[in-house]
Amino acid sequence: MKNLSSIIEAGIINNNHLYFKREDLIPYSFGGNKARKGILFFREIDNGDYDTVVTYGSSHSNHCRIVANMAAARKMACIIIGPDEVSEQTFNSQMMELFGAEIISVPVNQVHDTIENILFKLRLVGKKPYFIPGGGHGNIGTEAYVQCYEEIRKEHFDYIFFASGTGTTQAGLVCGKLKYSDDVQIIGISIARKNPRGRQVVVDSIKEYMGWDARIDAATVFIDDYIGDGYGKENAEIEKTIKSVLIQYGVPLDSTYTGKAFLGMTKYLDKHEIKGKKILFIHTGGTPLFFDDLKKCEA
Ligand SMILES: *Cc1c(COP(=O)(O)O)cnc(C)c1O
Repeated sequence: MKNLSSIIEAGIINNNHLYFKREDLIPYSFGGNKARKGILFFREIDNGDYDTVVTYGSSHSNHCRIVANMAAARKMACIIIGPDEVSEQTFNSQMMELFGAEIISVPVNQVHDTIENILFKLRLVGKKPYFIPGGGHGNIGTEAYVQCYEEIRKEHFDYIFFASGTGTTQAGLVCGKLKYSDDVQIIGISIARKNPRGRQVVVDSIKEYMGWDARIDAATVFIDDYIGDGYGKENAEIEKTIKSVLIQYGVPLDSTYTGKAFLGMTKYLDKHEIKGKKILFIHTGGTPLFFDDLKKCEA
């Protein structure tokens, strides 16, 4: 199979060789890990008998932007349930609207019931809805990152770093490593969740995909040292990282995911005195968020 994104050599970082896997350049709607997952979800949708896609996410969601685009391309109805608490206009939400998605905003504690309700009502009037879990979570999303791992493994990296959120990206990468019994260290930098729960969600996803395996525990490294003030919260250090990575490598990062993870990676390399290694940073996307950040800077 053809690679969905390429790996580029960037230069030296903390005395290591740094490479980027440009998932942000997956050629579909500003790419990102949600595009890689979305392609597999819509393969299943295309093979089934569905007329409506329902999913969940905030107005910042890269996942919802991708799903709305893929649904619109098929002239399928798309319903997005989002939390009132995070519903301000962003470039992602503007694109969801442009794609004609119906956005239903409810208080976060009503999201679960609202999804059940909408699916029930759709079926009642004879519609055939397909529900995609928020963030593209689940075995299909995990499979997408097993495939990504297969694009990476020939390059023999010592370490792979990336932003870990719902953990599906990490679960797929770990399943790939275990599938081939490779030595690479896979380090998920949490952008929000704390341990032990954050790591447990990744472990659960791995077990759901491949069953129990004695090696899962040691292979699942979920670092929650660099979440700063929590999900979506930027700070001066993250901003500085984003600016310097853009200048030095010409690669745009955002403050919620990739900028935070990149900063966490550099701190992790320092803390563990890692030197002379071949390091891959997976750029998981979020380019519209880069522009939200940029707009905020000028305000
Ligand atoms: C969703 C997202 C992540 C986190 O991916 P998970 O599979 O949920 O861990 C990381 N980076 C970006 C840009 C994202 O949109």
